[in-house]
Amino acid sequence: MSTVGIVGSGIGGIAFAIRMQLMGHAVTVFEANEEAGGKLGQLQLAGYRFDTGPSLFTMPQLVDELFELAGKNPRDYLNYQRLPEICSYFWEDQTRLKTVEDASETAKLMAEALQEDATNISQYLKDAGTKYNIISDLFLDDSLHKLSTWTSKKAMLGYANLHQLGLFQTMHQAHKKRFKNPKTVQLFDRYATYNGSDPYQTPATLSIIPHLEYNLGAYFPKGGMIEIPRSLVRLAKDLGVQFHLNEAVEKIRTTGNIANGIVTKKGSYDFDFVASNADIRPSYKKLLPETLRPGKLLNQPKSSSGVIFYWGVNRIFEELGVHNIFFSKDYQAEFEAIFKQATLFEDPTVYVHISSKVAPEDAPAGGENWFVLINAPADSGQDWDALVQRCRQQVIDKINRTLGINLEDYLVAEDYLDPRRIESRTSSAGGALYGNASNNKFAAFLRHPNYRSAIKNMYWIGGSVHPGGGIPLCLSSAKIAAKLFQENV
Ligand code: FAD
Repeated sequence: MSTVGIVGSGIGGIAFAIRMQLMGHAVTVFEANEEAGGKLGQLQLAGYRFDTGPSLFTMPQLVDELFELAGKNPRDYLNYQRLPEICSYFWEDQTRLKTVEDASETAKLMAEALQEDATNISQYLKDAGTKYNIISDLFLDDSLHKLSTWTSKKAMLGYANLHQLGLFQTMHQAHKKRFKNPKTVQLFDRYATYNGSDPYQTPATLSIIPHLEYNLGAYFPKGGMIEIPRSLVRLAKDLGVQFHLNEAVEKIRTTGNIANGIVTKKGSYDFDFVASNADIRPSYKKLLPETLRPGKLLNQPKSSSGVIFYWGVNRIFEELGVHNIFFSKDYQAEFEAIFKQATLFEDPTVYVHISSKVAPEDAPAGGENWFVLINAPADSGQDWDALVQRCRQQVIDKINRTLGINLEDYLVAEDYLDPRRIESRTSSAGGALYGNASNNKFAAFLRHPNYRSAIKNMYWIGGSVHPGGGIPLCLSSAKIAAKLFQENV
């Protein structure tokens, strides 16, 4: 039995802890915050409950897998429902569209609302599934930093189908070729934001993302998104994982190039193996200052961050669902503002998530809990106080114009996050939601490895490393790192 110390209890860190403990090791997790979960947090405000981070839960089987691996019934820990309605879309010219769990019905609804060919939309969603299947075996289950991955039978199959993956055109170019209506292009381009990227730069390969939502489904956990890390922490504790909360790691100890301990204000702990679930930038700069850094990776542009308003509203809006999008009039200019000018766009696309639609206990009777997210650049010293204030008014004006209401009459509770606050709460560099941006094919697919021979006995998990950000990929990073450990890499 070996001892393993993990820095950080984001979803990836908890999943890695479970996997290592199940392999028979003694695992200790150090978390700077008072609760585990990282970006999956919760806010209680004047009777309203908000999930502060992720709101869209896809591929729940990746969470179930951890309970099953431990021989437990997942339903004893976490329950969730598949959402019958996926997303309501609003444009200011009063075009409206609701997508639903059945992909062929969604294709029909899109065709009607956007004057598209339903068969083309159905085929697009099928193609997304095909592409997903081609790359998932290679990309989601294995390290791309091992020769055996590239020479395996699965990889050979992948190469034969490489032409289908859209590596050599941008997502926007592919969508523009495929759909007549710029609104359909905008709708599918938006999926680039699911890993914090720009559809005008990111490869068309990322159009696998709609497959997760439309073919595999959108889910919501009982008790909110916060129940995902909480249920996994319950499992981890049942298995014997130790959690040191409110204990920030100040240094990862190394002797030569071998990681062998963790130093906090409370003490210096010896471990046979160490893992970092913290973002790669602070991991190197603060925790491993004397180690040779992968400079190029650390300096790559960050994914988008967000400005998020948590609004308690004292009215029910029948026209809204669990997930809602109010689209910008000029999507290209919005992404230029975020990724080129590093600022907020004056007419931002607004995402409104209302969990009380399916979990009425999340808001007082007659009210709704609005989580309102605007894509934003990562922090590079902008005047966030001024930007947030300006953006708040622009968002309210946009919703008012689209729905014909006066939202300020109904706002009774309020808080917000901006990139600075996201960074200070989760140590994510610049407050980026998904690590580095995937704005070219190298950045998208060659992220920081889960193991580097430059620092032996150390593993890397989470949204800033391979295979990427978002709950499903962070869970995959833990699986790949555990596999590398088992293979004695
Ligand atoms: P993180 O969540 O980044 O956690 C890292 C943990 O390490 C933190 O708890 C931090 O405190 C701790 N830590 C760091 N340094 C130290 C240290 N020195 N000592 C001790 N502890 C340390 N994903 C989706 O799938 N769906 C969504 O809808 C979605 N929406 C999002 C919306 C927002 C507003 C945000 C912020 C993120 C969203 N994401 C979404 C992305 C998703 O939340 C992340 O990709 C994922 O949760 C990151 O997990 P992680 O394992 O990388 O750890």
